[in-house]
Parts: sequence; structure tokens; C-alpha cells
Amino acid sequence: MTSTQTSVQTSVHTLIVGAGPAGILAAFYAAAAGPVLVVDRFTLPRDKSCGGMIHPLSQQIFAEMGVQMPGRLLLEPDTVYFRYNDWDHQYRYDTKLSFGNVDRKPFDEWMISLIADKAEVWDACSYVGHEETADGRLRVTLDARGEQRVVICDWLVGADGSRSRVRRALGLAPFDCYLTVQDFCLRTGPVDAVFDCFWTGEVPDLAIGYVIPKNERALVGLIYYPGTKRPTEQQDRALDILRQRLNLGESIKREGWSALKHRSAKDIVAGAGRVLMAGEAGGFLSPTSGEGISWAMDSGRSAGRAIAAGGSPECVQATHKRGTDHLRRMIAWRLRIYPLMTSRRGKSLFRLAPKPLIERLTRRI
Ligand SMILES: Cc1cc2nc3c(=O)[nH]c(=O)nc-3n(C[C@H](O)[C@H](O)[C@H](O)COP(=O)(O)OP(=O)(O)OC[C@H]3O[C@@H](n4cnc5c(N)ncnc54)[C@H](O)[C@@H]3O)c2cc1C
Repeated sequence: MTSTQTSVQTSVHTLIVGAGPAGILAAFYAAAAGPVLVVDRFTLPRDKSCGGMIHPLSQQIFAEMGVQMPGRLLLEPDTVYFRYNDWDHQYRYDTKLSFGNVDRKPFDEWMISLIADKAEVWDACSYVGHEETADGRLRVTLDARGEQRVVICDWLVGADGSRSRVRRALGLAPFDCYLTVQDFCLRTGPVDAVFDCFWTGEVPDLAIGYVIPKNERALVGLIYYPGTKRPTEQQDRALDILRQRLNLGESIKREGWSALKHRSAKDIVAGAGRVLMAGEAGGFLSPTSGEGISWAMDSGRSAGRAIAAGGSPECVQATHKRGTDHLRRMIAWRLRIYPLMTSRRGKSLFRLAPKPLIERLTRRI
């Protein structure tokens, strides 16, 4: 533990680390069982790099919560269909899968408002570590701008994203991470009103890229395999290549981030003892597309509901595991097909596949 100034001690039923979609959903549902505290290391609302594509399953979860995403969050075009684009073979496939088109920061801010009457939120406050108390609860150490705070809780939810510290505290290995670079580009002409996912061998180390129109701009995101050297130089070259095909002008904002890459289905962990994992921290994210908001919400809801249902740690863990089994199965299946999907043979097979099969495969990308 680092040297400290003051120590503030608080007691809550549930402490949630991370105010992303997983943490918000966990808080929303766990509040039924007792006081909830959510902490996030960033000042909120945070500025997370994201494509801002909202899957219909997220909308379904909002409906179940009794809320609707406000229209003011939607950009122009407000809905975009997912299109797969293999540029090297000039193969393009338009799917029927549509996404809500938002900017992530106002979306996150609205999501935090959903727990205003359900949880206390401390921002700029980092989880440092935890230990079990003599009476079987958890003693969690936090760092709030250099001030140490101690929180005693019955349940701890690790919803702290791809570089989760709670995960490491459980003795689990950190994930491999893709490197992501996003540019917000001015447009020099029209950009197709689709969520245009592309692949091309012209950009080395590229897992997948996307172009999404956002009001008068176009968001260009590229996801590079772990270990990619000098990703910003790669990105500059990629933008030059893209500009030859699309109406993309100057980049007015660039951001870099990371996204988890599963090594195997064993990376998916629902938790242990009084600690429940949700969202990317638990490995809940689509390994084939990197779409993660609906997966984070789904697994966060499961953690919150398990806590609300109550019982012994074994019982709560079993409830959360059951609540996330469908996600685990979907991820395991995607991990099995991923090597084929990204191989030359797989790309050729995809071009020959019948349309109904592609529609099925892309229903939850
Ligand atoms: C470039 C990019 C584009 C993406 N585009 C999309 C998209 O268009 N659609 C989609 O569905 N998904 C997208 N994703 C994935 C999606 O953003 C994530 O999967 C989703 O945000 C995961 O939610 P989460 O709640 O698990 O974690 P996060 O949203 O990552 O939230 C975790 C929170 O934990 C906090 N935290 C971390 N460590 C600590 C600590 N020690 N103490 C306290 N707080 C801590 C962080 O500050 C953060 O706010 C994208 C990801 C990237 C990188």
C-alpha cells in the first residue's frame, strides 16, 4: 500500500469498480439488496475511445430497465447497418443488423444518470486492492487523488475493463490486448451511411477496421493485433490508403486505446468468493467484432441480479455463472471460428456462403 494522508472508512453492501456499462448495470440491479457505491479512476463522464455503435440487444436491456435511450444522443445518420467489406477481393456484404449511432461520452453520461437514485458514485477514485475481514466481508482500499479510503463491503464487482486490477487481485493473468487507433476525419464528400467494417492486407497487423459517419465527420477506427509496432505510423499509412477509396479529409482528433483479446475461453471468469466479474474485466466481449457494450450490460445485469437474489458466496457465484453461461457459450463458439474467419480460406468461404447463413452469423457480431 502506498503512503497515505487520511483514511476514510465506509461500509456498503456492494462496491463496484468501474462506471462503464457493466458497472452501471450491476449497480442498477444490486441496489435492491442494499447500499451501492460505484468508484471510477477517471473524472466522470470519462472520455472512452469507442465506435459508439449501440447494438439492438443494448436497447432491449434498456427497455427491460424501463428506460429508453434519448433521441438527443443519436447522431446523423441515427441508425447504421453493418456492412462487411473485404477490399482485397472487392467483396461487400450489407447485413440487416442495425446499430444506434452515438458519441460515447454523452452516452456514458446518460448511463450514469440511470443510477442517480440507486448508488453513490465516487469518481477520480481508484481501486487498489482488497482483503477478507475476520467476519468474512471484504476490506477494499481505494486511492482518491492521493487520499486513502477504506470501504467494507459484502460484495465487490470488478467491472474495471480490459486492464482490470480486480482481475489481477484474484490471481488471474491479464489479457492480451489489441491496440486501437481512432481518427475523427472531416469529409471531402459523401460517406456511405453504414457501419462499414473492412479488412485489407494492405494494412499490416490489421485485425479489422471500420468507418462510421458521425454528423459532418467520419470516424475511422483500426484495430491492430497485440504487439503491433508503431501503431500511429501504421495509422497514418492506413489513412492514406483509405483516402484513395473514401471521401476522407484531415483528421481533427486521434485517440489510442486497447481492447481485450481472449487467449481461450478460460479467460472468461464470473468471479470467486465475494468478488463478481462483469464486462471486459470478466472477458465478456465479442471476440469476433470487439462489440462490447451489450455484453458488458448483459454480464453487469447478471452480477447485480445475483447480488440482489442473495445467499452464500457459493450461491451468488452460481447464480452469476448461470446468468452469464449464454455469453460464455457464444464467446467460446466465436473463438473456435475466429482462426478460420481471419484466414484466407475462411475469407473465400465467406464469399461463397449463402445469404441466410451470413444473416444468422452476423445477427450478433
Ligand atoms: C476503439 C474501441 C471502439 C469500440 N467500439 C465499440 C462499439 O462501437 N460498440 C460496442 O458495443 N463496443 C465497442 N467497444 C468496446 C466497448 O467500448 C467496451 O467493451 C465496453 O465499454 C466495456 O464496458 P465495461 O463496463 O466492461 O468496461 P469500460 O467501459 O472499459 O469501463 C471500465 C471502467 O473501469 C474504470 N477503472 C479501470 N481501472 C480502475 C481502477 N483500478 N479503479 C477504479 N476504476 C477503474 C475505468 O476508468 C473505466 O471507466 C470499443 C472498444 C474500443 C477500444
